[in-house]
Amino acid sequence: MAKRDYYEILGVTKNASQDELKKAYRKIAMKYHPDRNPNNKEAEDKFKEAAEAYEVLSDQDKRRRYDQFGHEGIRAGQDFHGYTDIHDIFSHFSDIFGSSFGGSIFEEAFGGGRSSRQRRSTQIGTPGADLKVQLKLTLEEIAEGVEKKLKIKAYKTCELCGGNGARSASSRITCPTCSGTGEIRQVSRSVFGQFVNITTCSHCSGEGKIIKDVCPECRGEGRVHGEKTIKVNIPPGVSEGNYIPLRGQGHAGKRGGPAGDIIVMIHEERHPDFVRDGDDVVLDLFISFPEAALGTEIEIPTLTGKAKLHIEPGTQSGKILRMREKGIPHINGYGKGDQLVRINVWIPTKLTQRDRELLKELLQQDSMKPKEADKSANSDKSFFNKMKDAFT
Ligand SMILES: [Zn+2]
Ligand SMILES: [Zn+2]
Repeated sequence: MAKRDYYEILGVTKNASQDELKKAYRKIAMKYHPDRNPNNKEAEDKFKEAAEAYEVLSDQDKRRRYDQFGHEGIRAGQDFHGYTDIHDIFSHFSDIFGSSFGGSIFEEAFGGGRSSRQRRSTQIGTPGADLKVQLKLTLEEIAEGVEKKLKIKAYKTCELCGGNGARSASSRITCPTCSGTGEIRQVSRSVFGQFVNITTCSHCSGEGKIIKDVCPECRGEGRVHGEKTIKVNIPPGVSEGNYIPLRGQGHAGKRGGPAGDIIVMIHEERHPDFVRDGDDVVLDLFISFPEAALGTEIEIPTLTGKAKLHIEPGTQSGKILRMREKGIPHINGYGKGDQLVRINVWIPTKLTQRDRELLKELLQQDSMKPKEADKSANSDKSFFNKMKDAFT
């Protein structure tokens, strides 16, 4: 079959911008996403085709060569991956899928079982259900990545019958209704000719085999209640709403059907000190007026332990100090967010007689009066404006 034009595949014009390409690709990828089109070979092919087109066109150099020489100018394996496994696509375009699917993280990085996906295309048994598991993580765990063990209650394959539900090999016999094909063919003749109508055999549910004598352990289900402990590796940088699918680790299917998945839902616990903002963490630090005025060095918490923070003399309340790379690692790339420390100058509420005397003395000092220049530097700025300042 001749290869289709990349622009045509993505449904964009030849002068489409990078942004348009990305949008077009995301739309197509969502439409043909394997999670939405299980066991649909055509959708899978379309999904792969679009990935290749996007991979080439999203790269300026490759796009130029393609524009000039067409498919001749593009080398498989070098300019695009020539995906044979759709799971590679997820990991390669994690920026696309990361945001399109509620922040799902696909299993490539987690060693999910691919074989279970392949088994899904077969007809045996009934697939097992997926299992959702909530996983609570602290910000520290998110910052460093963590391996967690989860105790899971799920159906497992019956060991006595090996999952086929029969008491013995001889008690699983060829279905007499369909002679083992799993299908019923009905030929009907009309004036227009002969029609063959194929339906799934209802006697054996399409399996081609029926069980004469069921397994006493699972009563013919091929699965029993079980409990297991699974390990899941959480990469650094995940956030609330992300999920990690563990393919084929969910409920065992009925009578040899493929197992479902475990979906590990990430739940971020509230931190006593930090508020997360993207990959940055914000810490509210309270210091005394003398510390702000004189400057000091303070030991403060970070996600990876204590650190010293230098406070300049004359630091105003509301000032935001940035500690680079003390935040959360970016999940789709290199580097880390920052820790932003918001200075709050604390005003004492309970004063001793001596405090009052000292403060009254200070009150007389001209240097204590707010200066216009300092006021304008600090007033009328919302927290987020200051946050932006901290970035620039
Ligand atoms: Zn059994
Ligand atoms: Zn049958």
